[in-house]
Amino acid sequence: MNTEKRLLRPDMMPHMLCPGCGHGIVFEAMLRVLDRRFATLDQVVFVAGIGCSSRIVGYIDAGTLHTTHGRPLTFATGLKMARPELTVIVVTGDGDGLSIGGNHLIHAARRNVDLTCLLFNNEVYGMTGGQAAPTTVRGAYTSTTPGGNRETPFDAARLAEAAGATFVARAQSYRPQLFEGILEQALDHRGFAFLEVLTDCTEYFGRTNRLGTGVDLLQSQSRAEPAIGVDLAARPTLRPVAETAVRPTLPMGVFHQSRRPTLAEALGVGGGGDELAR
Ligand code: SF4
Repeated sequence: MNTEKRLLRPDMMPHMLCPGCGHGIVFEAMLRVLDRRFATLDQVVFVAGIGCSSRIVGYIDAGTLHTTHGRPLTFATGLKMARPELTVIVVTGDGDGLSIGGNHLIHAARRNVDLTCLLFNNEVYGMTGGQAAPTTVRGAYTSTTPGGNRETPFDAARLAEAAGATFVARAQSYRPQLFEGILEQALDHRGFAFLEVLTDCTEYFGRTNRLGTGVDLLQSQSRAEPAIGVDLAARPTLRPVAETAVRPTLPMGVFHQSRRPTLAEALGVGGGGDELAR
């Protein structure tokens, strides 16, 4: 049986991702990791919120929970506490996980819930209409910032680390092999593993800011992390904004890994003694 037939739900096809969307690259890389790692997905559960990234979990033939906007980590926490033997993977986006669900993220990190949180950061709300997100770069045009974004984005990985995440990393859609390797490490980790992956929305962020096709956006990632900011500033057709649009240079890789009791261990439930040995 080939990978697609083994891991996917054919009745959910065709998928809803737009042509060129970076989420497709990341999703395919996820499938390769799942294929290598699990003979069966019977003990794997994906929990997602609302958004284009969250929607992809419905295509995977594992246990899947498509929850309310911003709340996947709350559902996942309850699931992991009730069924500690399961591998729980949360898929969320920057709007879902950092804005609406931002409070849940910092507390899941603080509690060190034993799960993997995979956050797709495309710097915009995609599915809900291209609104600005907490990660939208300064100067970027979105449906809610028609004059260019004046707010300052924050660094999701540094936020997760400061909140107590015991594994923190960042990857990008341009380098799927790097992403796969980091995802494997995150799945091996005991505790709250936060993996941010930079990926591009062609339809809203790319088109609205006239950054070209999905290939152009990947090339932008490849040149240097600040390239999108440079592109934005250089577009003569865009109305000038008060401040130059600059995407901060974002390093890739594993930034932090440490060991402390998980929530289950701290509460003495769910086989905490065994967990300490891992
Ligand atoms: S709206 Fe954007 S993020 Fe959503 S599928 Fe289309 S390109 Fe991807």
